[in-house]
Amino acid sequence: MVKIELRKDYILDRWVIVAAHRSKRPNDFRQEKKIKSATKGNCFFCPGNENLTPKEIGRIEKKGKWIIRWFPNKFPAVSKEGNPEIRHDNKYFTYSNAYGMHEVIVETPDHKKQLADLSEEHIKQLLEVYADRIRKLSKLPETKYVLIFKNEGEEAGTSLIHSHTQVVTYNKIPKNVQDKIEASKKYSNCPYCEIMEIEKNSHRRAFENNNFLGFAPYASRFNYELWILPKKHIKNITDMDETMLLDLASIMKKVLVKLKEINHSYNFFLHYSPEGEDLHFHIEICPRKAIWAGFELSSGETINSVSPEDAAKFYRGEE
Ligand SMILES: [Zn+2]
Ligand SMILES: [Zn+2]
Ligand SMILES: [Zn+2]
Repeated sequence: MVKIELRKDYILDRWVIVAAHRSKRPNDFRQEKKIKSATKGNCFFCPGNENLTPKEIGRIEKKGKWIIRWFPNKFPAVSKEGNPEIRHDNKYFTYSNAYGMHEVIVETPDHKKQLADLSEEHIKQLLEVYADRIRKLSKLPETKYVLIFKNEGEEAGTSLIHSHTQVVTYNKIPKNVQDKIEASKKYSNCPYCEIMEIEKNSHRRAFENNNFLGFAPYASRFNYELWILPKKHIKNITDMDETMLLDLASIMKKVLVKLKEINHSYNFFLHYSPEGEDLHFHIEICPRKAIWAGFELSSGETINSVSPEDAAKFYRGEE
């Protein structure tokens, strides 16, 4: 039995998943290196190798061939073992099993293409899959949140080159989301609606279309960090129609194409509002050039060597 535990710091609201089976023994390490350099022939996300992945959950096809497919992760960070209930009965040791599902969405059959290389229409279809996974997985009684994120490039922690997104269901609302929900409650109206009104006309504005605004946030933690928010107060990607999703795909592509230009690894993730809460939906794109070191670990704060104003200029193509 795979035992994965979710543990809370003695006194802080800081959580960690202890997933010992994911740590690599020397042999596994070699294997991972091999996977990293996997070419078309031996990549198990490539067409022809579908039988090497866990049982498929779903796919989108075009002319009889899949263009996006998703299935359970072979090395899950969470599992459906044990008890999802968080035990608070001990003064310093708060825990549960890290209970949930971990899925992988392969974004394209093409081994060589990154997300930035796909068409807006294709990216829109991927966003539809994101919405579908949030909708379906939220229905499971133990799901409190569905994390959707992407690691692209070595510095962003990807272990497989073939372009993919990860989906993790969680038995608690993640701290980063909870913090934003709580902080939003301190304002009489949605702060993000108001912030957008300001950033729309600021030096930090990067992209805008009918439905979305992309800007470099005022206190960006990462070089070229960018947030994308719907202009209307929308709480979840599941509430967006096709036109909106296409507008979102259009800005996503523009951002990723720019990051590819400077060859930056990146993570991005969706932050939506869980049932019964009120958080303005957004996507955060976090390029990972700088490595967090002593200062960041000691202070919990970051040093960013690219000002958000310069980052926005770069995205607007003005430098
Ligand atoms: Zn591949
Ligand atoms: Zn809002
Ligand atoms: Zn966020």
